[in-house]
Amino acid sequence: VVDLAGVSKSYGDLTALRSADLVVHRGELLAVVGPSGSGKSTMLNIMGTLDRPTAGKVRIAGHDIDELRDRDLSALRAATIGFVFQQFHLARGVPALDSVADGLLYSGRGRAERRELAERALRRVGLGRRLYHEPHQLSGGEKQRVAIARAVLGDPPLLLADEPTGALDSRSGAVVMELLHELHEAGTTVVVITHDRDIAASLPREVRLKDGRIEYDSALGDAPAGELVAAEGGLR
Ligand code: ATP
Ligand code: MG
Repeated sequence: VVDLAGVSKSYGDLTALRSADLVVHRGELLAVVGPSGSGKSTMLNIMGTLDRPTAGKVRIAGHDIDELRDRDLSALRAATIGFVFQQFHLARGVPALDSVADGLLYSGRGRAERRELAERALRRVGLGRRLYHEPHQLSGGEKQRVAIARAVLGDPPLLLADEPTGALDSRSGAVVMELLHELHEAGTTVVVITHDRDIAASLPREVRLKDGRIEYDSALGDAPAGELVAAEGGLR
């Protein structure tokens, strides 16, 4: 689904991401961890085509994004990727059902169909009884579930979540993670940034960033890259 090859991102003389190689296959659930400032959000935004890299190749769902104009890139993004962020970005005073339905405003669907799909998405995240609640009437965990309902409304094959549990207590965080697991089991490819080592260790694949570099990828073997090389050297 996602293929980053030698991807770097620089801001002036600051390099936020250094020649990252990462392939995410369809149906994976993976955690991205690393210290603050290590480039996690930078990498996720590039995977989500919200940002273009300064070097390297990005392929999303088989498309080389260098070959797409901004308009086509937006269309690809809308069809392929759902986003969830640490802050829920729900409009004040807007009931959950409308917040979610508005995610389809430019989909060409009629109002009734938008609301029907939104209701289904809210039921899917366990908020069937909160359809008309406004953000101030919802807990943090419930707000994040509204945001997830909006993100998965069009059934995107890829869900990118940037610290979705960062603003939640551990119990609501667990509910949100449970939901991501369910989406993964239903076939969605899910990439989650987290600061929580326990969450990261509990997912099928873990990628660690440090100073803008991928320093460890559990899909590439059990030992961190440096140790693996040392171990192999020791055999010779
Ligand atoms: P956190 O855990 O705090 O969210 P992160 O791993 O997500 O950190 P990034 O947001 O990817 O880190 O930032 C990586 C580096 O790039 C940081 O040093 C940051 O200051 C810098 N950076 C990010 N976005 C920009 C930008 N738009 N302009 C300039 N520098 C940026
Ligand atoms: Mg970040």
